[in-house]
Amino acid sequence: MRDNNCIFCKIAKGEIPSATLYEDDLVKVILDISPATKGHALILPKEHYDNFYEISEDCAKHVIVTAKKMAEKMKEQLDLEGLNVLQNNGEIAGQTVFHYHMHLIPRYKEDQVNMDWNHGEVTEEYKEDLMQKLSL
Ligand code: AMP
Ligand code: ZN
Repeated sequence: MRDNNCIFCKIAKGEIPSATLYEDDLVKVILDISPATKGHALILPKEHYDNFYEISEDCAKHVIVTAKKMAEKMKEQLDLEGLNVLQNNGEIAGQTVFHYHMHLIPRYKEDQVNMDWNHGEVTEEYKEDLMQKLSL
């Protein structure tokens, strides 16, 4: 369901201009307006989904296949050393636009991107608890 006030719905419909790298019936790939690095792109479904919990499986598959194609293009055309493929869900996780999107962030030597976190420790109790709760 589209949300009338959603900026990415408006971009998907072409109501707001975007630097579009790819488009088909299901997705649009645009350059991020405030890039972390050169080539930072976003893949957004044309359908409105708030986040990863809401996106349909078919759309999620299409997003990842598109990400793979874009990643290959970026590797070929940019002088990148690596690539972050990331997707934020919820304000605490850094989501600022509440229309599902996937970031493709080319990485370069000495770029200013910081994705580090403190690495915790795993105890037997921790493992047992989470293996019981999260095993599919
Ligand atoms: P997130 O924080 O994961 O929700 O990512 C939102 C991203 O959308 C940010 O990297 C913004 O720079 C980007 N963004 C916001 N508005 C626009 C826009 N009009 N065109 C392109 N990118 C945008
Ligand atoms: Zn939307």
